[in-house]
Amino acid sequence: MHITSAEILCVGTELLMGDVVNTNAAVIAKELAALGINVYHQTVVGDNPGRLTEALHLAFSRSDLVITTGGLGPTYDDLTKEIIAQYFGRKLVFHEESWRRIEAYFSRLQCSFTQNNRKQAMMPEGCTVFENRCGTAPGCALEGNGKMAIMLPGPPREMKPMLLEQALPYIRKDSDTHLVSRNLHFFGIGESALEQRLHDMMVEAVNPTIAPYAKTGEVMLRVTARVRDGEDPTPLLEPVVNRIKEEAGQYLYSETDGDLQSALVHLLRDKGLTAATAESCTGGLVAKRITEVSGASQVFQCGMVTYSNGMKEKMLGVSRETLNTYSAVSPETAGEMAAGARRFSGADLAVAVTGNAGPEPSEGKPVGLVYVAVDSSWHKEVLELNLNRRDGDARELIRYLASSHALHLLLRTAQKYPGVSGISKEQEAQAIG
Ligand code: ATP
Ligand code: MG
Repeated sequence: MHITSAEILCVGTELLMGDVVNTNAAVIAKELAALGINVYHQTVVGDNPGRLTEALHLAFSRSDLVITTGGLGPTYDDLTKEIIAQYFGRKLVFHEESWRRIEAYFSRLQCSFTQNNRKQAMMPEGCTVFENRCGTAPGCALEGNGKMAIMLPGPPREMKPMLLEQALPYIRKDSDTHLVSRNLHFFGIGESALEQRLHDMMVEAVNPTIAPYAKTGEVMLRVTARVRDGEDPTPLLEPVVNRIKEEAGQYLYSETDGDLQSALVHLLRDKGLTAATAESCTGGLVAKRITEVSGASQVFQCGMVTYSNGMKEKMLGVSRETLNTYSAVSPETAGEMAAGARRFSGADLAVAVTGNAGPEPSEGKPVGLVYVAVDSSWHKEVLELNLNRRDGDARELIRYLASSHALHLLLRTAQKYPGVSGISKEQEAQAIG
C-alpha cells in the first residue's frame, strides 16, 4: 500500500506521568520525515484498554499508518497487540518461532522465565513479525482495509534497531521512490533574514522542498528531492541549490560539514595550513571546538588562555602601553594577541578573542562587546561584535557566539590563502617586518 500520512501513538502511563521522556516519538518522527511520510499527529495514551482503543480509532480516522511503541511486554497491562488485533478483526495466535527466540534469549541470560512470557509470543493472525534482537517482546506489522499498524517495543534500545532494520524497510516495501537531501550551512545571517531572501522560492518549492533549521548562531537549509529509485537527483537539486547560492551565497560556509569547526579543520588540512588560538573571555572554547574534530592534530598548533592582563603581556607579548591605553577589551589588544599567538606558535594563522561576557560591565566595556582578531601573512582583520542578547543565560550564549565568530573568521581567512606560490617568503618577511 502507498502511505502518505502517519500518526505516532506511544503507549505507557509512565509517559503520561512525566516519569519517562518520550524519545521514541522523536526518533520515529525523524525517520518518517526522511522517508517523506507526513506525521500530522503524535499521541500519548496510558495503559488503559478503553482509552487506547479510542486513540487508535482516532489515529486511523486521519492517517494511513499508525506506529505504536510500548505495551508489548508480558504483563497484564501490556495491551497493544490485543487492542490492535481487535481493531483489524483478528485473533492472537501463538507464534512458534518467536517463542523459541524468547526461550533462547532467557537461556543465554541464564535466567528463568514464567508462563506469562508466552503472552509475548501471541501475535495477531496474519501479521509480519519483527524479531527483537535486543530484548524479548517481538514487534509486528498488520495491514487491512488500506491501513497499516506497526507495533514496536517501548524500551528505546529495543525500539530503534527494530525500527531501522525491520519496520522502515517494511513500510517502504511498495514504494519505488526515495528522498535525497543536500544540506547548506550558513553563518552570519539569522533564520528570518534568510527566509526573507528566499521566501518565494521556499513557498513555491514542491520537488525539491526547502526547509530551514536554526541552531545557535547558525542556520541550515535542507533541500530535499523525491526521485524514483535509480534516478539521478542532480537535475532537480542543482538549479535550486544554485539559486540559493545566488541569493545568500556569501553566508554559506559549507555544503558538506555540519558545523564551523569541522569545516575549518577540513579546509586547513586541504590547504596544508596550521592554526593557533589566544583566548580571553571564551576561556578555551575555540580551542575546545577545534579539537572536537578528529584530525585536528594535523592542523592545530596550540591554544593559549590568557585571562589576566599580565599573561596577555607575558605569554602573547601584548604591550603594556596598549593594555593601559586601550584596555584589554579593544581592537588593539585583540590584534596584538593574535599576532603574539602566531609568533609564539609558528602557525600560519592565529585567532584571538577578547571581550566582556558579562554579567556586569567591566572597565567601562558593555556586556557582549567582543573583539575577534585574525593574524596571518596574507590577511589581518579585527571584528567588533555586540553579542548581548537579553536571554537568561547570556554569559554562556555570548561565549558560544564569540567562539563561532572566531572559527568563522579563521575559516574565511584560510579561504583567502593565496597558496604557497602566491606569496614568497621575502614578501612575507617584509609584510611582517
Ligand atoms: P517490556 O517488555 O519492557 O515491558 P513494552 O513494549 O511493554 O516492553 P513498556 O512496558 O511500555 O514497553 O515500556 C518499557 C519501558 O520502555 C518504559 O518503562 C520506559 O522506560 C521505556 N519507554 C516506553 N515508551 C517510551 C517512549 N515513548 N520513549 C522513551 N522510552 C520509552
Ligand atoms: Mg511493558
